[in-house]
Amino acid sequence: MQKVLFAAHCVLNTAAKVVMYNEAEMAAEEALRGKFLQKALADGIQIIQLPCPEFVLYGSRRWGHVSDQFDTPYFRKECRRMLTEIVLQLKEYLANSGRFEVIGIVGIDGSPSCGVDYTCKGEWGGNLGDRNDLPEVIASARLVEGSGIMMQELRDMLQEEGIDLPLKGLFADEPHKILSLLD
Ligand code: SF4
Repeated sequence: MQKVLFAAHCVLNTAAKVVMYNEAEMAAEEALRGKFLQKALADGIQIIQLPCPEFVLYGSRRWGHVSDQFDTPYFRKECRRMLTEIVLQLKEYLANSGRFEVIGIVGIDGSPSCGVDYTCKGEWGGNLGDRNDLPEVIASARLVEGSGIMMQELRDMLQEEGIDLPLKGLFADEPHKILSLLD
């Protein structure tokens, strides 16, 4: 039996991530990502990469965003479009349960797109150069319980197909969540 896992794009490719400046946070996430991937590889788990909607739609020089900014009909439609092929692949693996075991889906907690248990919210928007309250606006961003926009759409798509799989967020403060998928 081959074990198969679906993972947010940047679990495998951190080059897609928005440029980060909090080194401690980055190091903690990287340590957990490395531990998770090393164990997954050692256990022979096959990993299918989800698309990165932010890189595709906004590129490598994008600003960081909060989920409120991506909560638009078009962003949601694009997430669904990008996930359509993935869900078809997922259905094929599930249809051959004698050969494959799909062990779950890994997102990135805190992400406005790929958060599973946590995403980020805030009253962000407008022309940065014209604002004289920028520090306060930036500081209004906060981690909240809830999923990012792509994960919301993925969850809905799975529900529409009657598929029930564990969805876990990579989060350095709660490492057991993704590591438990490999138990
Ligand atoms: S959008 Fe998702 S896959 Fe892309 S960098 Fe953010 S968390 Fe990673």
